[in-house]
Amino acid sequence: MAWLLPRRCYLKVCSQTSRGPFLSSIVRAWSGGPLTAYMPEAVSFPGSKNHQGLYRMSVEQVDTFWGTLGRNRLTWISPFHSVQDCNLEQGWVAWFLGGQLNVAVNCLDRHVHRAPNKVALIWEKDEPGKEVQITYRELLELTCRLGNTLKRQGVKKGDRVTIYMPPCPLAVASMLACARIGAIHMLVFAGFSAEALADRIQDAQSETVITVNQGLRGGRVTELKQTVDQAVKWCPKVKRVLVSMRTEQKVPMSDLDVPLDEEIMKEDVCCEPVAMDSEDLLFLLYTSGSTGKPKGLVHSQAGYLLYAALTHKYVFDYHDGDVFGCVADIGWITGHSYVVYGPLCNGGTTVLFESTPLYPDPGRYWETVERLRINQFYGAPTAIRLLLRYGDKWVKKYDRSSLKILGSVGEPINTEAWEWYFNVVGEARCPVVDTWWQTETGGICISPRPSDPGDEIRPGLAMRPFFGISPCLLDDKGNVLTENDVSGALCISQAWPGMARTIYNDHKRFLFMFLTATGFFFTGDGVYRTSEGYYQLTGRLDDVINISGHRLGTAEVEDAVNQHAAVAESAVIGYPHNIKGEGVYVFLVLKKGIYISRETLTADLQELISKKIAKYAAPEYVQITSRLPKTRSGKIMRRVLKKIVENKAHQLGDLTTLEDYEAVQKIIEEHKCLL
Ligand code: ATP
Ligand code: MG
Repeated sequence: MAWLLPRRCYLKVCSQTSRGPFLSSIVRAWSGGPLTAYMPEAVSFPGSKNHQGLYRMSVEQVDTFWGTLGRNRLTWISPFHSVQDCNLEQGWVAWFLGGQLNVAVNCLDRHVHRAPNKVALIWEKDEPGKEVQITYRELLELTCRLGNTLKRQGVKKGDRVTIYMPPCPLAVASMLACARIGAIHMLVFAGFSAEALADRIQDAQSETVITVNQGLRGGRVTELKQTVDQAVKWCPKVKRVLVSMRTEQKVPMSDLDVPLDEEIMKEDVCCEPVAMDSEDLLFLLYTSGSTGKPKGLVHSQAGYLLYAALTHKYVFDYHDGDVFGCVADIGWITGHSYVVYGPLCNGGTTVLFESTPLYPDPGRYWETVERLRINQFYGAPTAIRLLLRYGDKWVKKYDRSSLKILGSVGEPINTEAWEWYFNVVGEARCPVVDTWWQTETGGICISPRPSDPGDEIRPGLAMRPFFGISPCLLDDKGNVLTENDVSGALCISQAWPGMARTIYNDHKRFLFMFLTATGFFFTGDGVYRTSEGYYQLTGRLDDVINISGHRLGTAEVEDAVNQHAAVAESAVIGYPHNIKGEGVYVFLVLKKGIYISRETLTADLQELISKKIAKYAAPEYVQITSRLPKTRSGKIMRRVLKKIVENKAHQLGDLTTLEDYEAVQKIIEEHKCLL
């Protein structure tokens, strides 16, 4: 297997990393005290024992709170002199100024020093039962060899490296190798087309691409190298394509192509980590494209890493020895923060899931939980809704007693899905954390925190802000809404370490999109603050439906629609209405094996929504379809549905992130028949 290095190599790296000059120089340069100081318990805040007290401190005594954590939880090459210098009004955000560190050292070397044989990654390959375990020592060795390969190929500090790979140890090592040598990585989800890949390569002005010959997902082979070949034809600046072998299948190699597995084996297992400033760039990542053209967001080193690690620990109540199973692809921010950086910075064991929820059957997630003894499972509502359609038997077939926490991310989780996740998957004993955040925020911002013994959780609510996050609600005119039991635009009023710093090469667009003139971070999402002060996301502000002056969030209506026994999944949009301004239009997918006429369903939904929300919210149109248009990260693209209903199917906008164009074609045809 090309991925696994012979044992003699890691024995060699062990002796070099534990006694050799390079690690000891890092240890000497450490400002955080002895290595054991990394233990979370080593951080204590006088006078603040509970989470509420800690939360207040995190937003009121920012320098004390974050300074203590920064010093204790990260390994520095040279210490920072100021905790932060942030001014959202001017779009200036900087944390841990003057400090230098290396992210790969924080994710690997210091754990190799303590527990070299601890499993860092469990690669859950597409074929079930073929998992591969990679220890911290092995991952460090692979990263160093790859770092040396990149350097030999001419990659320098500050260069952008495109990684177009499925989740696999080499992809993680590629990210960390970039971090080690000071290059900036840019992952592109390995399901994107050549066009989407080329767009991103060009936008990032990247000269290097790392890929594999073929991908394997859900039992299907994807020709990733062919896609890269096509993309680089449109990108004359690309100087090299490093190709690893995921399958045995040989692929044509051109002058640009470098056989990566062979090159890695020629390299040394030590690679000097570069001292990076806290605010140097760590990675670029493009958003999911649910609302429009994806943006290349920039995250920097220290603040991002600390925030990913802290949220991973406290939202999921992660403890040493736990197996953390986030099934997101590494090509999305969830994969960056909760497959790679958060867990590895915490010295944890993290699962890399290469497959799909339905392969080879709808029991895949739970069979994996049983086999790998996963303790925290983190997935997306779209997958939960999909699996719910197949019934409880696929879940109950497997032992889920290892599970402690269940997480949800990406979209609002509707009540039916939340309850199924909690009661059936988690046997009513595992807290469900509905985590709200964005590519822009770097890590989870609003979520329950089961690590706090006093924490309350309500179905379908993201509940409470994380340390350092001060949510604030604005009305249509930009006034701050201070009371409870109120809905508004979700903003964040002060900077936090994990937030994106800019859009690559377009700071103006960043300021315009995300920062208000009054100095708030504008999320673009709507939120309801309950009478107790808890937060419930109501959907994207672009999708809000305005019916005769009543503003309706899509999440609320979809939640009610999904409670109908026949409905598996729905997308609700507003359409132009002569009298009311906008009316409600429902697209929905039926549960497996259910047949019901559109007329009956429409009448049922009108009654249900009138009862649960209000009469004015009752839908006038209900369209039954077999698939909803989604991004490749699984989110419903309501903007596409809106265009169809407005009869503007010829102007669907940026579709590079759309998963299934055929589903859109079908919906267009069905819509024509409905009118
Ligand atoms: P684009 O910004 O390109 O339109 P996107 O917003 O889907 O795409 P991401 O950064 O991947 O890109 O997703 C963040 C968005 O996902 C949030 O702004 C929010 O709308 C939605 N979201 C994420 N988690 C939750 C959640 N727990 N509850 C409700 N919505 C969520
Ligand atoms: Mg967004």
